[in-house]
Amino acid sequence: MAAKLKCAKCGAEVDTPKHCKRPMHVEKVAGSDKLVCWMGADCGTAEVPMHCGAPMVEAGE
Ligand SMILES: [Zn+2]
Ligand SMILES: [Zn+2]
Repeated sequence: MAAKLKCAKCGAEVDTPKHCKRPMHVEKVAGSDKLVCWMGADCGTAEVPMHCGAPMVEAGE
């Protein structure tokens, strides 16, 4: 489970926001990428943070 989000353009990393005490993950919700709670989209979603004008991506292990 990725705990960091990374900018695909400049490589900057930020901690993945948490929900219910665990890092959220990127998942398609209604056709667009959102941060989703590990408990599911019904529990919580958030916008994927932007960096350098593009949505950030989950950093590898
Ligand atoms: Zn939650
Ligand atoms: Zn950037």
